[in-house]
Order: sequence, then structure tokens, then C-alpha cells
Amino acid sequence: MQDDTTYELAIVGGGLAGLALSIQIAGEGYKVILFEKEQYPFHRVCGEYISLESWGFLQRLGVDLESLNVSHIKRLRVSALNGRLFEQELPLGGFGISRYKLDHTLVQIAKRSGVRVYEQTRVNDIQFSEGNFNIESSKGNFKARVAAGCYGKRSNLDVKWKRPFIVAKKNKLNNYIGIKYHIRYNFPNDLIALHNFKKGYCGISKVEDDQYCICYLTTADNLQSSTNDIKNMEQTILSANPHLKKIFNECEKIREDPVIISQISFDKKELIEDHVLMIGDAAGMITPLCGNGMSMALHASKIAAEEIRKFLNRTNSRELMEQNYSADWNKSFQSRMRAGRMLQRLLSNDGLTTLLITLGRFFPVLIRTLIKKTHGNPF
Ligand SMILES: Cc1cc2nc3c(=O)[nH]c(=O)nc-3n(C[C@H](O)[C@H](O)[C@H](O)COP(=O)(O)OP(=O)(O)OC[C@H]3O[C@@H](n4cnc5c(N)ncnc54)[C@H](O)[C@@H]3O)c2cc1C
Repeated sequence: MQDDTTYELAIVGGGLAGLALSIQIAGEGYKVILFEKEQYPFHRVCGEYISLESWGFLQRLGVDLESLNVSHIKRLRVSALNGRLFEQELPLGGFGISRYKLDHTLVQIAKRSGVRVYEQTRVNDIQFSEGNFNIESSKGNFKARVAAGCYGKRSNLDVKWKRPFIVAKKNKLNNYIGIKYHIRYNFPNDLIALHNFKKGYCGISKVEDDQYCICYLTTADNLQSSTNDIKNMEQTILSANPHLKKIFNECEKIREDPVIISQISFDKKELIEDHVLMIGDAAGMITPLCGNGMSMALHASKIAAEEIRKFLNRTNSRELMEQNYSADWNKSFQSRMRAGRMLQRLLSNDGLTTLLITLGRFFPVLIRTLIKKTHGNPF
């Protein structure tokens, strides 16, 4: 395909970070192109609990959350490996909506805002030369003044660019898998439960239309030791926790096959790669346990949009755009990421997980502090 337009902004990846960024910049009259390798609407691995800090921002982007029938979540229940429970109010709370519905709503807004959305289009490389980016995609080459890497946790571009987290040796912060189902189940609407099991945890909470999302994160080792059979792993390792056993036995799966991702890493990442601004999980992934990755992706898109706008209207140089974006990103997320990594390391030890949950039962303030440390304020 031949397209001689020089776009002001090219975005690789149409998840929350990419779509939100595209709407903000196209809304100001700039030419924006977005590449997504999948076709909307589609399911993806995500616990689908969004912290309330994103509510106002999504509404301002044009997402009418109430009309999407989101669930409102106010309480947290946590169980240890042996099933022992505690429950408490969430300091800020959140809401539940499937990514299938949320991303589809956002892409429709993006298209209405004038974003050129190329679906089923994989970007294979981005090269910077003489002030412009050349984007090589499965549908041809494109040019842009600014490029944003919004392609999520792990992509072909990370491999091509040999980003350090790709070549890192196996450690306590990488080599995880994520698995998700939508189910029907008799469960409170306003509750998110986090059930721990050996080397992993599983969240369950309501999304729209009487559906519940059940999503878990565990190590690749757990799957290997279950003869690489997910059902086997659920029946043995996950079901050792009596709450999970009950859910897996009693729920009705809306689609029998889960959505799966592998090679998840919580290692540190660079925020800029050869002048490409990294946004969302491509800039760093917080452990899903915190339930804050989506809000961080959305918030980072807002920070990036502010700096991209100043570059495009010639208020700031490219260098300043990159410096300011990195500084604001670090100010907003660095301590959250640090707390998330600490928590993920801690929870990879079954004994420490049980200890933390026991302490949480007696000292709810400890859990409140942890939640606050891994969340931000409305933006
Ligand atoms: C198990 C699990 C549970 C989670 N639960 C929660 C939760 O409950 N709450 C929460 O807030 N966060 C949760 N998260 C985190 C959350 O899903 C992410 O932080 C969020 O989706 C990041 O958005 P993003 O836009 O950066 O990436 P994504 O939403 O992953 O979007 C990236 C997009 O880029 C596309 N792409 C990749 N490579 C290319 C390419 N080369 N060319 C074109 N397109 C490409 C992909 O197809 C994808 O659509 C969870 C994560 C995991 C793994």
C-alpha cells in the first residue's frame, strides 16, 4: 500500500494507551495513524478491574461508562493458599468492564475523531531518520513526525530491538503466564476477590451484562509441572485453594477456551527507544495484583499527549518532549512500579504470601497502605 502522507503521530498498538492517545491528539486536528495487529472487537488477557482514578478521564474521552453497564466494585476479599480469608473496603474502588467492550468503544471514538486505524496490521520496524519516522508494517511503509510504542507487554519490536527485558535471564520478575475466562457465577457485584495459590493468584470480579471475569497469573513452571495442560493445573494447583475449587467447579464458562498470554515480565524498561515514546505496558508493567495497569496506561497517554502537543505546535523541541515525558512518567509511576515489583517478589514466595494475608487480617491498615502505594489519584 502506498500512502505518501506524513502523519503527525503514528501509534503502534491499539490497546488502552494507544487508543486513548490517538483520540487526544486527533481531537486537536492532527493527522494520526494507529496500527493494531488484531481486528476489533477481540478478547485479551486482563482482570478487567479498573481503578476509579480513570473514570473522569475515560468520560472525557467520550466513553459513557454508565451506559456500558459497568459494575461498581467497592470491596476486596483476599484468600491465602489454605483458603483463609480477609475482606475490607477498597480506599478508592473501581469498576468492571470487559476489554472486548471497552477497547471496541474506544476504537469507534478514535475513528470518529479522524484517526486512521489500520487493523490486522503488524508493525515490523520503526526507524528514525532526519526528523521523521519510517514505519514498516505488514500493509506497507508510512511516515510520521512522532512515533509512540503502545504495543503492550511484549511484542515483535521488543525482540527485534533486543530490549534488555527480552534478553534478561529468568528471574522472579519474568516468565509468567496469564489466563482469562468470562464466566457466569453467583458472586457479589461489588466485590473483587483475589485468591492465592502456589506461585500465583487469581482475581474474580463482575464486568458488564451479568458476566464475571476470572483471570490468573502464575509462573510458566506451574504449567510445565502440570504437563502443559491448563485444566490439569486448575484442578490441581489452583484448586488446592478451596475458594478457587468451588469457583472452577460451579461456574459456567461463557467460552470454554481461555485467552492466554505467556512470557510476561515485570522487569524495568526504557521509556524512550531511538526517539520512540514508550507508553503503557511497553514502558513498564506493574503486577496485575495491583489492578492498576490500565489506569497507568491511560494516565501515561495523557502525560504523553501533553508533551506531543507541545512538540507538534512547536512550543518544545523533540529533546524537551522526550525529557519532559520521561520526567513526568517517573514522577507519576516510578514509586508505584517499585512497590509493585516488591509485592510481586514477595508473592512469589508462598510462605510470605500467607504471612502477609495473616497480617492483613489483623492490621487492615497495612493492606490499605499497600493499595495506596500502588495506586494514584484521579487524573
Ligand atoms: C493476567 C493479567 C491481569 C491483569 N489485570 C488487570 C486488572 O484487573 N486491572 C488493570 O488495571 N490492569 C490489569 N492488567 C494490566 C493491563 O492489562 C495492562 O496494563 C494494559 O492492558 C496495558 O495497556 P496497553 O495499551 O499498554 O497494552 P495492551 O492493552 O496490551 O495493548 C497493546 C496492543 O498492541 C498490539 N500490538 C502489539 N504488537 C504490535 C505490533 N507490532 N503491531 C501492531 N500492533 C501491535 C496488541 O495486539 C495490543 O492490542 C493485567 C495484566 C495481566 C497480564
